[in-house]
Amino acid sequence: MSRVALVTGGTRGIGAAVSRALKAAGYQVAASYAGNDAAAAAFTEETGIPAFKWDVADFEACKAGIAEVTATLGPIDILVNNAGITRDGMLHKMGPEQWHSVINTNLNSVFNMCRNVIEGMRERSFGRIICISSINGQKGQLGQTNYCAAKAGEIGFSKALAQENANKGITVNVICPGYIGTEMVKAVPQEVLEKRILPQIPVGRLGEPEEIARCVVFLAADEAAFITGSTLSVNGGQYIV
Ligand code: NDP
Repeated sequence: MSRVALVTGGTRGIGAAVSRALKAAGYQVAASYAGNDAAAAAFTEETGIPAFKWDVADFEACKAGIAEVTATLGPIDILVNNAGITRDGMLHKMGPEQWHSVINTNLNSVFNMCRNVIEGMRERSFGRIICISSINGQKGQLGQTNYCAAKAGEIGFSKALAQENANKGITVNVICPGYIGTEMVKAVPQEVLEKRILPQIPVGRLGEPEEIARCVVFLAADEAAFITGSTLSVNGGQYIV
């Protein structure tokens, strides 16, 4: 039986490209999503990949969702923590809801998901955990104290978890995308995109979701066993760490 991969937020944007690429690489794939039933149904119809609805910010919902995926496909070998949101605003205008929703969805979700798969991975002596962080978690970005804190948090979390599980056949790695042409980025006004964002990208364009997906497939492979605790920047040269 082929390995089982679960992609959170796997029905749209980068996550959908990741789900598709993992399926094409021969994995059994499950995609989770939050509430956009129409997008999820269209995704499943097109790809044959089952979609499961729960809020990754809710620990008990993650536990139940993972149990449902496991009952459908088998134990999870590969977890891609991709679900994320932005609620931008300068700190001096930011409300607690803006802060907490971003921390809960982008960072606490990573605890909620990993905590509910890690014991099984340790028992089976195999696991691949891949977190989709962001260039802005590496360099900071005005208007995104909440998002940058969450995304930088994912990097520290992954480095620690990598060390805890290195002798158990489990790798934990982070991918930091730069600006990728998904709905999240297309929501940025065209003028801001053309005048402020594109000139900062030496490659001269937005990235494609598929360019992140191929990195996930690389890190998910059995053969990637010696890569753990690493952070892979995929940003068209915009920020070179
Ligand atoms: P999209 O907005 O296109 O898709 C987000 C996905 O996450 C959707 O499937 C959505 O479900 C799901 N989701 C959101 N909130 C929750 C939740 N609470 N519980 C479960 N699922 C949820 O995002 P992108 O593809 O642009 O981004 C994917 C990841 O990549 C994010 O972590 C983002 O921070 C990161 N990233 C993106 C960049 C970019 O340029 N796009 C750059 C750097 C990082 P639903 O469809 O139901 O809403």
